[in-house]
Amino acid sequence: MAITRSGNAVPEQLGFEGMPERLFVCTPSKLGAYADCPRRYRYSYVDRPTPAKGPPWAHNSLGASVHTALKNWYALPPDRRVAGALPTLLKATWVREGYRDVDQERATYQQALHWLETYMATLDPAEEPLGVERVVATKTAVLAFNGRADRIDARSGPDGAEAVIVDYKTGRTGLDSDDARGSQALALYAYAAQRVFRRPCHRVELHHLPTGTVAAHEHTDESLARQLGRAEDTARDIIAAERAVAQGADPDAEFPTAPGPICSWCDFRKICPGGREAAPRNPWAAVEHLAN
Ligand code: SF4
Repeated sequence: MAITRSGNAVPEQLGFEGMPERLFVCTPSKLGAYADCPRRYRYSYVDRPTPAKGPPWAHNSLGASVHTALKNWYALPPDRRVAGALPTLLKATWVREGYRDVDQERATYQQALHWLETYMATLDPAEEPLGVERVVATKTAVLAFNGRADRIDARSGPDGAEAVIVDYKTGRTGLDSDDARGSQALALYAYAAQRVFRRPCHRVELHHLPTGTVAAHEHTDESLARQLGRAEDTARDIIAAERAVAQGADPDAEFPTAPGPICSWCDFRKICPGGREAAPRNPWAAVEHLAN
């Protein structure tokens, strides 16, 4: 018997003899949503229809615009990867939702363009990454993981060719090597990239565009395995909770709220009992400093 969060005993689901259990299909965001708050996971991935979300966030629009511009930069032939191409790339991918007004949106666009110009000046336009917004996937005994890595670089390491995971960040605060080390998403990308590209992949990097800094971590096979083990633990918890609900357990108990500072930024704050105490934020709150 498995014991669920609410203490209910639920019979283990035994497959037909010799038949493998169905794998838990997941992305880093799916695992991250549950780790942050099981109730948020439920609202996003279990409840259907999906409960109404709050309005779009300007910082998400900014992040999406910059990521797509970077992707399209690499779609250009190397001789056209020049600073002069950036305004057109960014304009073409600009997402307008969430800003307070046109003035704030324009000021944010100028900042984003400046980040891109500064960042691109540090890159060799002739260098072709192994992958750009590349989906990498792998399976374990518990989960079928797939995720889209912002960029996977080909570099030479001490033992020959290796792959490096690059993740772009556009948030306000800078990042350090602890952030790179602790990121389960980056570790899972590295684990999957090793299998997809058949070369070592231990280095993961967070490229923070607003400050032009790179926070890096060199994983070992053991640290990648540890992160994978944690992801499998999360997957098992989710499977147990979903199974319990399917068998009649109380969904509120199986997917409890985890109130905290993230509630202020949660899409489901208005409908969630755990978010009632959280201070509401304007959709543009996280980009306000860029327009000053
Ligand atoms: S408002 Fe807070 S407690 Fe509720 S789902 Fe969102 S993060 Fe979880």
